[in-house]
Amino acid sequence: MTPAAPVAGAPAPDWIVLKFGGTSVSRRHRWDTIGELMKRRASEEGAKVLVVVSAVSGVTNELQAVCDGHADAAGTAARLDALVARHREFCRDELGLDPDVVLGERLAALRALADDPRRAAGDLAWQAEVLAQGELLSSTLGVAYLRSQGLDVGWTDSREWLRAQALPNQNEWSRRLSASCDFEGDAALRARFDAAGPALRIAQGFIARAPDAGTAILGRGGSDTSAAYFGALLKARRVEIWTDVPGMFSANPRQVPDARLLSRLDYAEAQEIATTGAKVLHPRCIHPCRESRVPLWIRDTTRPDMPGTVIDASAATVPGVKAISSRRGIVLVSMETIGMWQQVGFLSDVFERFKAHGLSVDLIGSSEANVTVSLDPSDNLVSTNVLDALCADLAQVCRVKVIAPCAAVTLVGRGMRSLLHKLSDVWAEFGRERVHLISQSSNDLNLTFVLDEGLDDDMLARLHALLAQSGAMPVTETAVFGPSWRSLGKPVDARPAPWWQQRRDALLALAAEGTPRYAYHLPTVRERARELMSVAAVDRRFFALKANPHPAILRTLEAEGFGFECVSAGELAHLFEVLPKLAPDRVLFTPSFAPRAEFEAALARGVHVTLDSLAPLTQWPGLFQGRDIVLRVDPGFGQGHHEKVRTGGKDAKFGLAAADVPAFVAAARAAGARVAGLHAHIGSGIHDARHWHTVYASLAAIAEGIGTVSFIDVGGGLGVAYDPEAEPFDLAAYGAALAELKAAYPQYALWVEPGRYLVAEAGALLLSVTQVVDKQGQRRVGADGGMNALMRPALYGAWHEIVNLTRLAEPPGAPCDVVGPVCESSDVLGRQRRLPDATAEGDVLLVGHAGAYGAVMANRYNLRALPQEDVLDD
Ligand SMILES: *Cc1c(COP(=O)(O)O)cnc(C)c1O
Repeated sequence: MTPAAPVAGAPAPDWIVLKFGGTSVSRRHRWDTIGELMKRRASEEGAKVLVVVSAVSGVTNELQAVCDGHADAAGTAARLDALVARHREFCRDELGLDPDVVLGERLAALRALADDPRRAAGDLAWQAEVLAQGELLSSTLGVAYLRSQGLDVGWTDSREWLRAQALPNQNEWSRRLSASCDFEGDAALRARFDAAGPALRIAQGFIARAPDAGTAILGRGGSDTSAAYFGALLKARRVEIWTDVPGMFSANPRQVPDARLLSRLDYAEAQEIATTGAKVLHPRCIHPCRESRVPLWIRDTTRPDMPGTVIDASAATVPGVKAISSRRGIVLVSMETIGMWQQVGFLSDVFERFKAHGLSVDLIGSSEANVTVSLDPSDNLVSTNVLDALCADLAQVCRVKVIAPCAAVTLVGRGMRSLLHKLSDVWAEFGRERVHLISQSSNDLNLTFVLDEGLDDDMLARLHALLAQSGAMPVTETAVFGPSWRSLGKPVDARPAPWWQQRRDALLALAAEGTPRYAYHLPTVRERARELMSVAAVDRRFFALKANPHPAILRTLEAEGFGFECVSAGELAHLFEVLPKLAPDRVLFTPSFAPRAEFEAALARGVHVTLDSLAPLTQWPGLFQGRDIVLRVDPGFGQGHHEKVRTGGKDAKFGLAAADVPAFVAAARAAGARVAGLHAHIGSGIHDARHWHTVYASLAAIAEGIGTVSFIDVGGGLGVAYDPEAEPFDLAAYGAALAELKAAYPQYALWVEPGRYLVAEAGALLLSVTQVVDKQGQRRVGADGGMNALMRPALYGAWHEIVNLTRLAEPPGAPCDVVGPVCESSDVLGRQRRLPDATAEGDVLLVGHAGAYGAVMANRYNLRALPQEDVLDD
């Protein structure tokens, strides 16, 4: 192929480097996208385009397995045969090309690696050769496919351009399999590169030329680094990393749906974010771009028109936290001097030993007599063997203690030291955890907390919200912070539309009768109820009626076979008024610090009565004579979407501490009562199915010791996806976790008592717009109900979807806060919502997922009327 002759006098068009990962090269339509982007960059920007690709998804792992199993000749041959078959199939069936023509030689070379004399010993050069095959194949396939589509694309062997350098601290392994390359390019190199093929080219990520002329590998994430090296060598216009997310975010969007897209970052902050946990960009790829001042873009392959993240030197420097990230699997090594206080050379003695074991240290905390460091598994091979050897070695100079597994939570951003006054809520959040080490980086870009690993996922979401609220994370800086993950919307999935979309007319008609007004959709309640009925491991289900005691809902759930869980005599009275014929055995009474009279009332009705401390037994022993009682245990930890709904742990008022169970059982016996069941409910809005596993296991262990227990009630708390884009509660995982427990403890009946899960989605709050006001650039849409009608946003910072039902079809407008009519600053139902710009007085707003803890918590504050309630039964 002859390169296009440069037009005389015109500046040579420079290169843009695009990198695509495994999923982007594993489907034909994805290759069409790549071809499309190459054409666009060339035609719209007059650029030359170099595409750097990874191996087809899963192939590198397979090749790694070939390396790991090198000693087994037959196994190696079989693995390679499978890879040959897989690539032939992909070539023929997916890309519609002839595998013999396109891949003949490459596949022969791949297969020949099984017979290579270096195989048996697992020679590192042979391993590098094996690992390189994935990219060699995918790039060959891509070139052939795009040529078949009429594009003049050249194939470039990356090894001719990227040269691995031996660095002083590298060992044999890292020199060959985690290599670094020289990325100093000069005009002569660029001229040679220009002349070596057409203006559209495809090369391999991950591979380079070793100093001995063999192949070297850049290590995991190496394709990003390859692209960066090419960008630096070619002094490219920019490097674009194409991935399956729209860019870098202020937190991992899978843990924090409110995470904001970071539109613009400088190299230093981007480096810090990538290093401390964001998986979008490999940390090693920033340095070459930074050194050569090549901008780095992150773009989304599935949404090529989204702006993504731009990392370059011209980003405005905005102080403040840009991101929060977490890493797991952190190992802390604490070293105490045995000898003298402030012993000379102690640090050098210990670090010498880390170096000898090839371990790079991440964080450091020190005092006169102790140095504690962290090891990050992503930089180190922290196997037990390596750790044991290190500890044995360190023991010669100090007392060693290993603390693992830990998690590191890091706040990244410029000017951390001047932000402390805004971080008080963040400190408070950490106050609940066991913090082993706090480290503030000397470049003032990060603040890291090392904690026990068992931190719950919700913590990051809470921290993110606190950072934004306190202003420590300057989310209003639009130069840096883009839209939230939530508002970007995820790629379309098949989730059904919410019920209220079909019932818009009926809801508008109801709203015309007066707002604020709740509407409950009974078919949705039934649907959730039937889903829960189908969880086979559960023996009995009780609806926690405090979530929504509306008579129609109680009747609906009774008909679906549910029992009820009441927390007050008032709830009991209401329940039996609505359902007079209900058998008392279908009712649980689980009060908290209730007066004697309420216990008396419950016992008189013959329902199951739960005690959660010794007090009722010792204060009123006569009351429980001859009774079966249920004991609510606090397993010692809490969970949930907000501190105020976590009902386990020392700080919670609920439940008997596990250590006090023997005393309780003795007191019950003395009072003539029998502990027939155990109960725990340690929080609300829990999405992690393993939670019930943990709770049940601790209750079952307690039950063994009591002897009279016949059922275990693991509470409610099933999470609800308030955000239409959040993952729905994984009922299958819940069912599976419970089934496992049921199989392990078949002797106990399993009871559950969900509240919100059954009713949240089924309820909508209808409000009317009162005024739309702009104040100093902040737009507010006022409604005729706020924290008086729905307390959850003000009370828990809860997020509810808010739509303009009147203008449902109109496009989203500028962000506004939706506020209520109550004289309180916290009377905000939602912040930064995109209601249509035409939103005006009289429009009906719908607040979604308001069926649980909505109407029942409404109040008459400011002497406003309580909301009306209606049901829809079709
Ligand atoms: C509130 C409550 C429930 C229900 O919690 P949800 O989060 O609505 O599922 C269950 N059991 C007890 C004891 C409760 O207090």
